[in-house]
Amino acid sequence: MMTEPMDTGDAALHERVDALIAAVGLTDAASITDVLTAVSHERGRALELEPMPEEMESGDVFGLCLPYEDRDVILFRTGAGSEHELHSTLHECGHLLFGHVAETGQPATNPLSRLLPDLDADLIAKVLARSAYENEQEREAELFAMKVRAVIAAAQRRRGDAILRRFDDALG
Ligand SMILES: [Zn+2]
Repeated sequence: MMTEPMDTGDAALHERVDALIAAVGLTDAASITDVLTAVSHERGRALELEPMPEEMESGDVFGLCLPYEDRDVILFRTGAGSEHELHSTLHECGHLLFGHVAETGQPATNPLSRLLPDLDADLIAKVLARSAYENEQEREAELFAMKVRAVIAAAQRRRGDAILRRFDDALG
């Protein structure tokens, strides 16, 4: 998850993110579907998107990834606007591709208790709190989202140009 703008200015960080994007074949991603397919392929398991439960839609968490034993689930916050939903989904995809997430336990009703079974609220708060290590992971996921968004936007522009060219040709 991501709660505030990150400093993404460091060159080593950019190199790591560029290398990951190349390694998973997303340098010419055309849509979010390409990204979701790559995540599922790389992790060798199904990837599902689910709207975030209402009780979690307070505060500043816009997305969360839940790694189950047999599949990954990305929770995205609805009503934040499609650009925001796209960005936070890509951000969580970055976490999954970087392997920032550990395997966790059994599904339960509450997503947080599914994510962190048998832990009390204090422990959950600690897990959600920032540490320097987590912050580095947040910067990786955030820069991944920014870069892949730019790739997808460029692909969509090219597609638009191609359609316009066909119109021009048709109109002679
Ligand atoms: Zn994050």
